[in-house]
Amino acid sequence: MNTSVVGRFAPSPSGYMHMGNLLAMLLAWLDCRSLGGELIFRLEDLDPARSKPVYSEALAADLHWLGLDWDRGWPEEDYAQSKRTALYEEAFALLRERGLVYPCWCSRSERLAAASAPQPGEAEHDRRCRCARLSLDEQATRLQSGRPPAWKLRCPDAQIAVEDGHYGRFIQNPAREVGDCIVRRADGVFAYQLAVSVDDLRMGVTRVVRGRDLLASAPRQKWLIETLGGTAPVYCHAPLLIDGGGKLSKRLGSLSTQALRAELSPEALLGRLAFLCGLRERDEPASARELLADFSWDRVKTEDIRIE
Ligand code: GLU
Repeated sequence: MNTSVVGRFAPSPSGYMHMGNLLAMLLAWLDCRSLGGELIFRLEDLDPARSKPVYSEALAADLHWLGLDWDRGWPEEDYAQSKRTALYEEAFALLRERGLVYPCWCSRSERLAAASAPQPGEAEHDRRCRCARLSLDEQATRLQSGRPPAWKLRCPDAQIAVEDGHYGRFIQNPAREVGDCIVRRADGVFAYQLAVSVDDLRMGVTRVVRGRDLLASAPRQKWLIETLGGTAPVYCHAPLLIDGGGKLSKRLGSLSTQALRAELSPEALLGRLAFLCGLRERDEPASARELLADFSWDRVKTEDIRIE
């Protein structure tokens, strides 16, 4: 094994996986295994209200069923985000010391949305709200007032470039294009951007393969990891599967693995995913090992893939 290459599966147990999640998992597996790397399974169960043990079990069982194996991870100690709060606290304290986070008392619905990965096209809260401009004294007075704030990251007002392994150079000014993101909710729960950056850093992840909807998060994550003293992984985003309503969503239960497993063999499902993303010319059964034999990102489509 080439231990200088570390990849990860990072599913959220907020529903059963669907074809789009499975495609991202397959590509993460092929990418990591084709480089001889080590693969981690990290359970992204940050949001206690939406994470359910039944889904965690199902995610792992689906990956086993497909023959997509990993080397370490959940349910071993320390591979679930819900158990990693001390590490997030540490990073948060460092950011706070450096004036890179500020308390925000803006609306509650926005705070709740912050713990999940952003949906495509979803702006993360307002660009820079009035809370960003409060002086330290004003902050202190409000902090004593009792109503707990959410905490936002003061995103850099600078062009951050990410060399995506599949989509090429992606440049973003986080402060202007996406705005400050919540890193800790008012109820104390850490949010996606902070947790994922800390985890990728602390787990030594060198390759991140996931859906293209998260490309817009990569510059912030790269910047956060570097700010915390680490080296950012290579990001390699995967095309999305879309249906008439847009990106497939676990929340809508579209094409869930539960339904797919009742109809298809693992090889039939993998072969279909490989066909849909461009790795195979025909929709024919193939095992994960067979797909690995001639895997190349060059054949993976960049445009999103429409399925009915
Ligand atoms: N947990 C996220 C999801 O299931 C993926 C986060 C990531 O890969 O950075 O959509």
